[in-house]
Amino acid sequence: MFDIGVNLTSTQFAPDHDKVVKRAREAGVTGMLITGTNALESQQAQWLAERQPDFCWSTAGVHPHHASEWSNETASTLRCLAERPQVVAIGECGLDFNRNLAAHDQQEYAFDAQLALAAELNMPVFLHCREVHYRFAAVLAPWLSKLPGAVVHCFTGTRDELEACLAMGLSIGITGWVCDERRGMALREMLPLIPADRLLLETDAPYLLPRDMHPRPTSRRNEPCLLPHIVQQVAKWRGEEQDALAAQVDRNARALFRLV
Ligand SMILES: [Zn+2]
Repeated sequence: MFDIGVNLTSTQFAPDHDKVVKRAREAGVTGMLITGTNALESQQAQWLAERQPDFCWSTAGVHPHHASEWSNETASTLRCLAERPQVVAIGECGLDFNRNLAAHDQQEYAFDAQLALAAELNMPVFLHCREVHYRFAAVLAPWLSKLPGAVVHCFTGTRDELEACLAMGLSIGITGWVCDERRGMALREMLPLIPADRLLLETDAPYLLPRDMHPRPTSRRNEPCLLPHIVQQVAKWRGEEQDALAAQVDRNARALFRLV
């Protein structure tokens, strides 16, 4: 089982990166993708991935919350990073009109620029979309035929939005959000609609600790070693065998990010 969304550069993991990765391996995680959210963290993500050969890879990009930081220099930094073997996708990029930490026009500009970069470099993209599906789809659509793959990570949209994402050919990343008995119910019901070869799983650690674990972990910090819980719950709600799902999401991640 492969975790496609780990924010290992978070300060919450600063004291014990290596132990976090070790615990994940011991829990049966087969690989992980470390998320880059701005130029500096994308560099840190690549460094961290380099320390765990054949187990960790990373993305290089600018999260919509950081869209105001985008510049030509950022593009150069990401272009250099993308030459490293650990860096296998451009992102996290996209739009977030939920928290609105950057102006909408800046978000769209940085998103479009990163899609152009991914197309130029022939790399897949790791996408973020919160409460802005219509604009997200409008910016993304012209680039799709030029990209080798795309995943909308931490999907939390409506059924219509899911169907639109699938029609666009996107893969769908599901986090422990789906384990939330309040806001995850609608998503839980949509799980069987996702074709097996388009489904990816992720913890989005240290965020989104699954709320339905018994006993509850003593720390609120989510970790990639908790991915087996998400696999177990998603398998149950899709009516699949847990081991088969774990193998499938590993294959899907390796195919999408072209890992050897
Ligand atoms: Zn995100």
